Amino acid sequence: MGNQWKILVTERIAEEGIEMLKQEADVHVDFELSSDEKRPELLKEIKNYDAIIVRSKTKIDRELFDASENLKVVGRAGNGIDNIEVKEATKRGVVVANTPDSNTISAAELAIGLLIAQSRNISQANTYIKSGKWERNKFKGSELYGKVLGIVGLGRIGSLVATRMQSFGMKVIGYDPYIQDERFKRFNVEKKDALDKLIKESDFISVHTPRTEETMGMIGEDEIEIMKEGVRLVNAARGGIISEQAILKGIKNGKIASAGIDVHEVEPCYDNPLYEYDNVIVTPHIGASTLEAQQNVGVTIANQVISALKGEVVTNAVNLPTLNRDELITTKPYIDLMDKLGGIYYQLYNDPVEKVEISYYGNVARQETDMATIAFLKGLLSPVVGEHVNYVNAKMLAEQRGIALKENKKMDVFNGYTQLITVKVRGKNKTFTISGNLSSKNEGKIVEIEGYEVDVEPSEFMIFVQNIDVPGVIGKIGTTLAIENVNIAKMQVGRNKPGERALMLLNVDDIVSKDTLDALTKVENVIWAKAVRL
Ligand code: NAD
Repeated sequence: MGNQWKILVTERIAEEGIEMLKQEADVHVDFELSSDEKRPELLKEIKNYDAIIVRSKTKIDRELFDASENLKVVGRAGNGIDNIEVKEATKRGVVVANTPDSNTISAAELAIGLLIAQSRNISQANTYIKSGKWERNKFKGSELYGKVLGIVGLGRIGSLVATRMQSFGMKVIGYDPYIQDERFKRFNVEKKDALDKLIKESDFISVHTPRTEETMGMIGEDEIEIMKEGVRLVNAARGGIISEQAILKGIKNGKIASAGIDVHEVEPCYDNPLYEYDNVIVTPHIGASTLEAQQNVGVTIANQVISALKGEVVTNAVNLPTLNRDELITTKPYIDLMDKLGGIYYQLYNDPVEKVEISYYGNVARQETDMATIAFLKGLLSPVVGEHVNYVNAKMLAEQRGIALKENKKMDVFNGYTQLITVKVRGKNKTFTISGNLSSKNEGKIVEIEGYEVDVEPSEFMIFVQNIDVPGVIGKIGTTLAIENVNIAKMQVGRNKPGERALMLLNVDDIVSKDTLDALTKVENVIWAKAVRL
């Protein structure tokens, strides 16, 4: 039997990753399809695939999305997503995932390598000795110990460099206006609230920001001007964050003692005036080029793509709120629960939704709840939009359908619950409420529906019955289901007062037929009966 999914891999990923993909899908590997010459072929082929895995060469743009028919995931083995039009992907509900964590250690270690190599002239000495010469005084370097290292961008890589260089006895200062003070404290990095302040105090400066409009050329001639004499620079982030032109000037006039550069303004770069200077150490963008990083990237992207195809949470999706491993562990049960709670409304009522109001109480309010909200919307829209709705486009589709969204977070205990999620779905003609919670085993439960207190685990096949609460109804429903050969796993009745309306929730073992529902509706005092599949 063929696999359910087809995955196209157009650029190299580790064999381990390919093997993992093959467990779940038909995998076709063709590196030529990443080239401009073979682009027409790629555009023709893409309609056959559910996922494509690329690195930085294959262009994933509107034209490609237009040519695709089944594409659900774009996997970027690596970090930068310049070659992918993420907005177009989001519009079409295509998940774009990358592997930002897989090469952080490798990139940090290379930045440190460039720092050490330049301060001790390792590269120059190597070339010198191999040319048949021997001279010790020529290569007098400087120690790192006791020096000030300025880190610009205290993200994944910047923070790794910071902690590692502290073990060399360096004082580390940092500039990153987008992170909390808490993070500086955690990494023992002295916070500078302006780039100038960092620049003036640093003996070494290493940049670790992404490439953005703001960061391109953020260190230019003016910044180099105010640096310490004999400053040493590292750029293993993205070419141009420190202007090459400015480095050249600083090297020429002696202000900069040395520089280590892994990334270039134009890549590949075969010729650059900086290459004429021995004290400029260059490497051809090899920050991620280690065996470990390559394996990590391959395995991670395979996992991400498979999760996306299975409709599971994709931790590294760039067009979704990202979750780290710890956040995923704590929030996954809520995400699953919200998907199910969302799925109920449209299976019971046809009334178009105008507003969804979600309130998170207690412990859950302290956590990352964006994905849980998205999961509710995905569940809500699934019965009406079908499989086109997913975690990526649920919010956008809800917006397009004019569904207003409101979220509240309250840290206090609510109605005796230490954690609770309540949802109010306002339709054109009625308001539906549902609340959920987690059991001690971390399983999702419905604890309230339409004002009735219940304690029900949502399951794949359910029947909801609205009836008048008079003696005999429950028995007749049981008998009717027995006649229809439907096995009841669990059953609960939510009611307020005898003789009033009650809502019955039944977990059953199998899909419920229309005939069964008709039979239930005919039972005396039953108002309606609906099958719900979650
Ligand atoms: P990250 O997103 O974890 O961290 C980037 C940090 O930069 C964030 O904390 C952000 O707040 C900060 N930042 C953004 N704009 C800033 C600004 N204007 N001023 C100061 N700080 C700013 O990213 P990361 O994974 O640590 O990657 C850092 C860089 O390294 C990226 O450019 C990435 O592409 C590059 N990288 C290079 C290689 C390589 O082969 N040389 C490998 C991996 C990553």
